[in-house]
Amino acid sequence: MVLPARYAVAFPATGLDRMHRQYLRNGVIATLWARPDEVMLEHGAGGELLVAKIRAVLSGLILLLPLTASLGGAGSTETLIGLGMAVLVNIIAQVWLVLARDHRRHRWLPYATGTYDISATTVVLALMAWHDPAAGLNSIVVWCLYAIAIMVTALRNDGRLTLYVGGMAILQYAIVAAVMIRSSPETLASIDYGTVSTGGQIQRLILLLMTTLLTCAIVYRMQRLILQSGRDGLTGLPNRAWLLQHIPRLFDAARANGHTVTMALIDLDHFKRINDLCGHRSGDRAIRHISAFLSEVLGEHEQIARIGGQEFVMLLQGPIGSAWERLDRARRNLGQQPFHPERGAESFKLGFSAGLAAFPQDGADASTLLGCADRRLQQAKRDGRGRINARDI
Ligand code: GH3
Ligand code: MG
Repeated sequence: MVLPARYAVAFPATGLDRMHRQYLRNGVIATLWARPDEVMLEHGAGGELLVAKIRAVLSGLILLLPLTASLGGAGSTETLIGLGMAVLVNIIAQVWLVLARDHRRHRWLPYATGTYDISATTVVLALMAWHDPAAGLNSIVVWCLYAIAIMVTALRNDGRLTLYVGGMAILQYAIVAAVMIRSSPETLASIDYGTVSTGGQIQRLILLLMTTLLTCAIVYRMQRLILQSGRDGLTGLPNRAWLLQHIPRLFDAARANGHTVTMALIDLDHFKRINDLCGHRSGDRAIRHISAFLSEVLGEHEQIARIGGQEFVMLLQGPIGSAWERLDRARRNLGQQPFHPERGAESFKLGFSAGLAAFPQDGADASTLLGCADRRLQQAKRDGRGRINARDI
């Protein structure tokens, strides 16, 4: 197996990894518009729960409004209507909270709560405007609820959600403002709320658009940071954290399809010597070379991660016997290609040992399989290195 020169750089090609790398290459709009992967959605679900908790607390505070209004001299009918509305808002907030705790079953939840937040704001605004158009259209407090609803979508890590909620806020506010300005132009001024002008309303719409774009920028930035935190800086391969997050999904899919997945834990042999003889930079180049070489072995839906200094995990589709054959062939090929750390430098041979463990036969979760593969790897080291163990000896 001869390695093309392009593999001297980071981001070698792998199977499952393709979508991840595509994300990193995508521009802002493509990233925001793409469906976030499962791990991104998992982070976003934590944000949804946080938003649900904040909504529940704020809804609790709304209960105080009719009570303080009644102390301030409001009529009993007004107080009762206000109290009824506040209780309804609290019941809905509790329903969102319960659903957010079980987010895996309710992927649609952020869209439903986003629609609710914007539409509830529009209802309050329309009720105020019904009573006094200037009060509704010039109220800064109620208008700010739109901006807040758009901003909290940043916690969900989904650009499509931010665009949806922002677009809906702009549309609903534009409709309410247009209807009010057209239907009652003579009552667009009040002593308490000032005069409503078309220019002022357009400015508010532009501010909602700016809030949406700014929130999109935050979502984009957060998505990039989450992606980069799952990458190894030296090789561009997924790291240990990424692997542990993705393994449960990979195993779920294998279980559903009745497939076997073989985990290979690989450790380079006598790597300290390379550092000692050729220097740390040459050692780094050797690690990149091996990561690219091993990536070449992967097929569709297979994965490699660098989980330690010179330790790699490969997840190979198929039974342990065929995985052993593929990996052992790769090990022999690697041994036949001397590695040149740099032009003119002396070449040396790279080698590795590995321990294999199969899902579901050797274990049903990542830590059991890693433990089993590590035991077999240690045995391979004790037996003289340069070998792959697929069972306990
Ligand atoms: P063994 O055959 O038993 O695995 O021996 P080894 O020399 O490979 O020892 P070990 O697996 O414990 O490897 C540890 C060495 O790997 C220590 C360190 O010098 C080197 N190493 C770890 N991470 C890096 C890295 O990012 N760059 C370089 N250049 N060397 C690294
Ligand atoms: Mg080693």
